[in-house]
Amino acid sequence: MPSLFKTPVSALSGVGPKRAEQFEKLGISSVGELIQFYPRAYEDWSEVTPIADITEEGTYCVKAVVGSAVSNTMLAGGRFICKTTVYDDTGTVKLVFFNNKYISQMLAYGAEYFFYGKITFDSYGSQMVAPAFSPARQGPHIHPVYRSTAGLNSKTIEGAVQKSLKMLPETVGDPLPEGIRKKFDLCGLRKAIEDIHFPKTTADLEYARRRLVTEELVVLNLGMRSLRDHSRTLSGVKIHEDFSAQFEELLPFELTGAQKRAIADCVNDMLSKPSQMNRLVQGDVGSGKTAVAASVCFTVIKNGFQAAFMAPTEILAAQHYETFQKLLEGTGVTVGLLTGSLRESDKKRVRSGLADGTIQLVIGTHALITDKTEFNNLGLAVTDEQHRFGVAQRAKLLSKGDNPHLLVMSATPIPRTLGLIIFGDLDISVIDELPPNRKPVRTVLLPASGRGRIYKFIREEVSRGRQAYIVCPLVEEGELEGVASAEEYAAELMLKYFPDIPVGVVHGKLKPAEKDAVMDGFARNEYKILVATTVIEVGVDVPNASVMLIENAERFGLSQLHQLRGRVGRGDAQSFCVMISDRMNQVTRQRLEVMCSTNDGFKIADEDLKMRGPGDFFGERQHGLPQLAIADFADTKSLELSQKIADEIMFRYKDLRSDELRLLNAEIDRLFSRGGHNTMN
Ligand code: ADP
Ligand code: MG
Repeated sequence: MPSLFKTPVSALSGVGPKRAEQFEKLGISSVGELIQFYPRAYEDWSEVTPIADITEEGTYCVKAVVGSAVSNTMLAGGRFICKTTVYDDTGTVKLVFFNNKYISQMLAYGAEYFFYGKITFDSYGSQMVAPAFSPARQGPHIHPVYRSTAGLNSKTIEGAVQKSLKMLPETVGDPLPEGIRKKFDLCGLRKAIEDIHFPKTTADLEYARRRLVTEELVVLNLGMRSLRDHSRTLSGVKIHEDFSAQFEELLPFELTGAQKRAIADCVNDMLSKPSQMNRLVQGDVGSGKTAVAASVCFTVIKNGFQAAFMAPTEILAAQHYETFQKLLEGTGVTVGLLTGSLRESDKKRVRSGLADGTIQLVIGTHALITDKTEFNNLGLAVTDEQHRFGVAQRAKLLSKGDNPHLLVMSATPIPRTLGLIIFGDLDISVIDELPPNRKPVRTVLLPASGRGRIYKFIREEVSRGRQAYIVCPLVEEGELEGVASAEEYAAELMLKYFPDIPVGVVHGKLKPAEKDAVMDGFARNEYKILVATTVIEVGVDVPNASVMLIENAERFGLSQLHQLRGRVGRGDAQSFCVMISDRMNQVTRQRLEVMCSTNDGFKIADEDLKMRGPGDFFGERQHGLPQLAIADFADTKSLELSQKIADEIMFRYKDLRSDELRLLNAEIDRLFSRGGHNTMN
């Protein structure tokens, strides 16, 4: 099997350069990847309906003989239509195909096939338009449906998969050792692969799926463990003194009890244990995680080490940089910013400052983990909004020092089983208290007809010295009809409603420097209104903003809406969140109304999970885990099973690098090299 990952799909007969390119679009370049391109759905071709029994429109599988040669009729504009009639012992059905010149070659007169598709009726009888079909000799089966792309349909993929399976060696090396398979009732890899593509029965399919899902989660599980293994090592970073009291003096506010506890937890980890700190600080948006991180950085730096603070977006990094710089003014701590969009010369300067130790605290994006960045003596790595980073990225940052301490911060509450995998043996501090004088954001849901009223309200807020965000889902004009695009929206706003008020626009397609300029302008209260896409979703902090208007609210998930709403209500003024939607069905309305009824992030995440189902919970791969081919992060039962199996494997073989686990290791490498799961806006 491993060698098939080195065999290009073009090695299959019938796959030329053009086909190969189409496969590439589906993320498939090798035969191995094609074999792992599991069907997205299945059709049940095992239940055949006699033609005479079909009296209602619907989707059916019939087993019938082609009763006439396929006729081709040209239509205007080079289009054409193929027709034939098929029969079984009970009746006949007309088949119609459009623009497929191969049909007449594929369907042989007098031969028997399974036909699967929708049957409709007209005055002449029943017909099937463009049914899928396969020779009857294949026997009743469950038919795979593959995710397709332009020019590459499911049937073609199916053919290629069939050829790929023929390339499998007689005995396929199995990453799961036999003893483990026996103990947990898992079938062998070869059978699993064959049955996941071409199962004979639903039971076969389920058995195959169970095996593959379990294997993938075991691979994930063990991979995460090895990434984390550093956590049990001794840290080269010795912290002797707690400087958090001194740091508190620098703050313009009193820390909340919860913040103090989180800081104390961290300092305790570093002071009292020989191993490195490995801590997650979880707190709802606005709970003040930044101050906690800053305090811990301060203590580490005062003990003679460097600290690195990694943020998921340039905007956020720049903002943290400014905050930290102001805060640490006069303390002698040197602060640097390192992001991809800096001028080369600036990057060079910061990098050399990190290498020689003259920069003690660096705030940055992924630029921090590139090979070019070296530290003199990194003592602490902080990742902000952890769910946006891959675990591999986190590990990379840690590798820049001699087992530095790790602090990860996240606003996203996650289900327990998944948390165990993502964070493993991380210790957790929860900030369960908001800074004082926060008034809960008042949230309303309005139809588009209420927009005028809200604009008037925004004007009033602006005249009181406040600012407003307006969020639209997309960037470019006309991307989706009826969906406001930031550019277009802002233009209209400036022209029609707020010609006298400075409006800024920010979205992911701007150059980072342009983005920063606009964000800065908003933070400095030069722009009163900021029209934005979800680039502002994470972390941005402008306490003076009091209105968050969200257009097409139906397009956002609850957790995302909560993140967006978290951009307001950060000061002591009453803040408002207005969701506008004109495309609401019952379910959407119910979902959005949850937002109006609570400000509690944990409750909202819970509802989100319940309503949307776990698949969508994290939005697009925002959990920092590798992309899975078949398993589902929300499949609690399989997650638990995989945990058990991973334990058993470690118990039996002790060392992940032992020879019996060679194939399993190869799978781990492959899963994690799919990497790159960060969503930079
Ligand atoms: P988050 O947890 O979402 O990252 P931030 O760290 O950005 O939250 O803090 C949100 C806002 O609250 C910031 O403007 C910050 O200065 C302010 N803040 C943080 N802690 C306190 C506190 N103890 N008292 C008052 N304001 C605070
Ligand atoms: Mg934050």
